[in-house]
Amino acid sequence: MKLYNIKDHSEVVSFAQAVRQGLGRNQGLFFPEEIVPFDDVDALLDLPFVERSGKILRHLIGDEIPNLEELVANAFAFGAPLAKVDDRTYALELFHGPTLAFKDFGARFMAQCLSALASRGDGGKITILTATSGDTGAAVAHAFYNLPNVDVVILYPEGKISNLQEKLFCTLGGNIRTVAVKAAFDDCQALVKAAFDDPEVRDGIGLNSANSINISRLLAQVCYYFEAVAQLPAEKRNSVVFSVPSGNFGDLTAGLIAMALGLKVRKFITATNVNDTVPRFLATGEWDPHPTQATLSNAMDVSRPNNWPRVTELFSVKGWDLGNLGYGRLTDAETEEAMRELQAKGYTSEPHGTIAWKVLDSSLQDGDTGVFLCTASPAKFKENVDRILGIDLPLPEALSSRADMKVLSVPMAADFAELKKFLLNRK
Ligand SMILES: *Cc1c(COP(=O)(O)O)cnc(C)c1O
Repeated sequence: MKLYNIKDHSEVVSFAQAVRQGLGRNQGLFFPEEIVPFDDVDALLDLPFVERSGKILRHLIGDEIPNLEELVANAFAFGAPLAKVDDRTYALELFHGPTLAFKDFGARFMAQCLSALASRGDGGKITILTATSGDTGAAVAHAFYNLPNVDVVILYPEGKISNLQEKLFCTLGGNIRTVAVKAAFDDCQALVKAAFDDPEVRDGIGLNSANSINISRLLAQVCYYFEAVAQLPAEKRNSVVFSVPSGNFGDLTAGLIAMALGLKVRKFITATNVNDTVPRFLATGEWDPHPTQATLSNAMDVSRPNNWPRVTELFSVKGWDLGNLGYGRLTDAETEEAMRELQAKGYTSEPHGTIAWKVLDSSLQDGDTGVFLCTASPAKFKENVDRILGIDLPLPEALSSRADMKVLSVPMAADFAELKKFLLNRK
């Protein structure tokens, strides 16, 4: 597989290079040189999830990784069930992995790829540096925990993620270090970018970004869009509308790649909270990020989404019309109301998935089959879900086992000099 740098088309890399490097020159994102559609999508849909996913990733990545199918089986050790909400609406549950959010799919596949590359002596030591607004951190920490030759440093905005989210990834220790930054998520993201721009840090500790910039994560996520359609009754497979709760727009990019591979999708809808840079852009044509606001759906508190250039690149190379991308946004009050509405239909969801449902529900046309992505388990946002719905959700084992552990994070100001010292202090 060859990928080019969106900001500098003369930089072309292999999949292995793109996975190791994360970003290209001038912080440009890598993008596949070609996405060849499958000849027979129906045959693909007939396969079991792991086998089909192996074929999809082999088709995209090619022969760079000999045991790719084995890595896929290791990474996708849990399913993505489709739950029926009503006759025209389905919930794609992406939260059955170890950290109860969809990011497990991408993070675990990336960890498998990096460890395969490292074990064949491809490059030196690796330090994963990533910023998280909640779920990335947990997924990355768990995916890389105890992996030899990989150190992990995770930055997150102090006090802006839930207690349970924090417990889930800041209590591991070992090769996982966590930093509580006294700033917003976008500032954490800026610190990560600054580290990648600093050759002393980048080359000294083999920096690698495991956030949704990394192409391996995006490609892994392509697979569950096929899985959603495969679980639909045959007569509904050609009328699908996907609604994607969006923050950094990695998940939406993956869905669009699935469509470029030949998966039949009538429409994609992007759903955000009040950090609605993209919905406003789609409505007005003006790119005008506002300061990031904290919301109930904190994993989507992003006002400068870093995967958006991939979305526009894909629309442009495929000749698709950005005007066909649906969009909508919800305030926190509207999110709470929608959670109660969805609960009354018999489906309990948390804020992120609920936003996708509500925007979908208000845009479905006659004959559409709606699928909204449930990106996290309701239990992961138990405090808010219990309060809003007046229920008492049981805490899953993945969370209850960590609830009383000590948070091991280091506090830090949003100051690159301080971060640099911290990073270089451990080899
Ligand atoms: C990360 C995340 C999102 C946003 O996904 P992007 O790929 O960044 O758009 C939505 N919901 C949850 C629960 C998340 O963790």
